[in-house]
Amino acid sequence: MIDLHLHTTASDGRSTPEALVEEAAAAGIITLAVTDHDTMTALTAVRAAAGPRGVQVVPGVEITAVHQQRDVHMLGYFLDPDHPALGAFLDEQRGDRRRRLVEMALLLSRLGVPVDIDALIESPAAASGKSLGRPLLAAALVAAGHVSTMREAFDRYLSEGRPAFVERCGRAPGAVIDLIAAAGGISSLAHPGKLAQDRIIPSLVASGLPAIEVYHSDHDAIDMRRYQGLARQYDLLVTGGSDYHGRGSGRTEGLGRVHLPEADFERLAARAGWSGG
Ligand code: AMP
Ligand code: ZN
Ligand code: FE
Ligand code: FE
Repeated sequence: MIDLHLHTTASDGRSTPEALVEEAAAAGIITLAVTDHDTMTALTAVRAAAGPRGVQVVPGVEITAVHQQRDVHMLGYFLDPDHPALGAFLDEQRGDRRRRLVEMALLLSRLGVPVDIDALIESPAAASGKSLGRPLLAAALVAAGHVSTMREAFDRYLSEGRPAFVERCGRAPGAVIDLIAAAGGISSLAHPGKLAQDRIIPSLVASGLPAIEVYHSDHDAIDMRRYQGLARQYDLLVTGGSDYHGRGSGRTEGLGRVHLPEADFERLAARAGWSGG
């Protein structure tokens, strides 16, 4: 089985790279890509864990682009993790994530629900390339007893339009497509069914988007058929994966169920000129 959409503790997943590879292998996955948000720091540990298990690793990332103030998740595959411009860009993305969480924490304290932001952003993990995100604030709000669930934290404070929400500064999807290509990678529009903005797809294709994520845990049969159809119409490669975020994350059901058909993977790998790894 092939799963090209997985997260680790390098972003908001709950499994360490080692644990993730173990869980994936146990679920029957033989080819995987870890696609942490705005970071590729897990790659070395993922490769080290995968090698002895005979699991093949495709380098991956999930970059948050911004189009008309809305987040657009773009997957990147087969890219060179040491590409300087890519590295600088991912650093910038993580810097903006940090800036945003600090500003949101300030708003939370003004709202009378303070959290210990220093503990979140000054952890050794954050210094070594971990990507920070709103789920950390949500967990801190739960831990401080201000809300009882992560969901409530988002609904009351953190979601767009709520009082502690702060906008992200990001690049346009077209710029992200170019950057991924410059790093030798192939970009894919992540979970378009979740994005629910199909009208932007033609402009992304015009900007050089080579692929689209058809298989995803949040896509039902109708979504998959629709995006399969769009892939055919625009001559796009097809990607897919579970978007597993680890045990207890609430995004667990897809591991070992949602996968990319081998023929789609062969086409993707051929386009990338990839010979395994
Ligand atoms: P960020 O990357 O900082 O914008 O945080 C986005 C992440 O927050 C998403 O990838 C989800 O995992 C999580 N998230 C967004 N909305 C909710 C929600 N209503 N409840 C729980 N988690 C959420
Ligand atoms: Zn995530
Ligand atoms: Fe995503
Ligand atoms: Fe994801």
